[in-house]
Amino acid sequence: MRGVLTRDAATWPVRRDRALANPVLRANVKNVTRRLAGARQRAYADYATGRAMRTEARDAKRRAIHQMDGMVQELCARLAANGVSAVVADGPAEVAEHITRIAQRRGARRVVKSKSMMTEELDLNRRLGAVGLSVRETDLGEYIIQLLGERPSHLLAPAAHRNRQEVWEVFQHTADAAGVTGPTSSDVGPLTAFARARLREDFLAADLGITGANFLVAETGTVVLVTNEGNADMVVSLPPVHVVVAGLDKVVGTWDDLAALIQQPALSGVGQRLSAYTTLISGPRQPGELEGPEELHVILVDNGRRAVQAGPYADVLTCIRCGACYNVCPVYRQVGGHAYGSTYAGPIGAVSTPLLAGLTFLPELPRSLCTLCNACVEACPMDIALPDHFISLRREAAEAGMETAATRLTYRAWGRMWSSPRRYQRFVAWARRGQPLMMRGGKLVRSPGLWRGWFATRDMPPIAPETFHEWWARRRAP
Ligand code: SF4
Repeated sequence: MRGVLTRDAATWPVRRDRALANPVLRANVKNVTRRLAGARQRAYADYATGRAMRTEARDAKRRAIHQMDGMVQELCARLAANGVSAVVADGPAEVAEHITRIAQRRGARRVVKSKSMMTEELDLNRRLGAVGLSVRETDLGEYIIQLLGERPSHLLAPAAHRNRQEVWEVFQHTADAAGVTGPTSSDVGPLTAFARARLREDFLAADLGITGANFLVAETGTVVLVTNEGNADMVVSLPPVHVVVAGLDKVVGTWDDLAALIQQPALSGVGQRLSAYTTLISGPRQPGELEGPEELHVILVDNGRRAVQAGPYADVLTCIRCGACYNVCPVYRQVGGHAYGSTYAGPIGAVSTPLLAGLTFLPELPRSLCTLCNACVEACPMDIALPDHFISLRREAAEAGMETAATRLTYRAWGRMWSSPRRYQRFVAWARRGQPLMMRGGKLVRSPGLWRGWFATRDMPPIAPETFHEWWARRRAP
């Protein structure tokens, strides 16, 4: 069954041009991605066994995806034995209904949330808002974009497209609207102090807390949260009810598997040896315990994952959402996350979105948002074959007749010309004769047909007066 994802109403050219015309956004995205990619590289350089660690982690996750249904069953049985209610939901509507029923039974109105891409995928805040629940995001980046009315633009840094000055402005507006004192400057200290003070009120007033999960260990029924801010621990421990919403792909088999994986989100994502907080939750508060929720619910979400697991792209589900592929992708670095038009961006978003929601949902993602440079494969700790998947998805789209007649004709003609040495050489001779029409200042600056867009922001050297083939033929001539 296909998943249900939400999308930006704007078309790809509009989203692309909006991003390219925003130099502040592009500078912000470039700064964040360069910093994170550099930190990751330095952190790995400290480990002589970096490659072996990656392989062990990847194998643990592949095993889990391969045996997904069995592991989900085992997990649900363990959770039930631990006093946790566990359900498997097909998609967004079912998840929202389930949480609404819990909230109504408990008389809950105010919800606090920690960062969770699963709930973003389900558009959960809007769905819960529609039934009268007020939801407050408590991760700093998520809090910022919630105030701005935006979606996250990066897996680990939801507000990567915004800088401190912009955050200061939105906090000032928030403070004015609430009649309180805003942050005194755009320095990190005053900004975080303001957010902390505002969020503390929400934590203390919350009736229900929602988190995602980085991993769920089947053999003991344990929910694992890996965070850097500590807000997730407040969401888990302060409200009387805790709901975990996680994809079926988050289940791993054993504690040994968890041990192999636990470092990877922080190491590959932000270049830390381990995240600041690793929280293990195995049930609701027990008699005599001072902290923790009275009720713990786990909702495991399919939303298209079982269909992906059954097909040739199953390794996509091993993604641990570390964001490393975003940080090295030349496309993401240019346009940021919102240009992708849905929840997931970067190389993994451009592959997993059509797999979850269908090829016709944002068909431009595999077609236009990858240069096949392979940088993502080198960065991905799970060794997901992203460029191979891009090529396969393009082939599937072409076979399904989704490309325009102009695209089909152009590629057919190109393929024909370049698949024989003689035809290729004739093509080069012909192009050299025509190239003066396309040149300015000694460079090729425009092109007819489908290549026109490529030259919009680039130029290239002209075809040489004598190519290697011609030089070789001349040297060998008697
Ligand atoms: S595809 Fe790989 S690099 Fe990208 S977020 Fe997932 S695990 Fe990280």
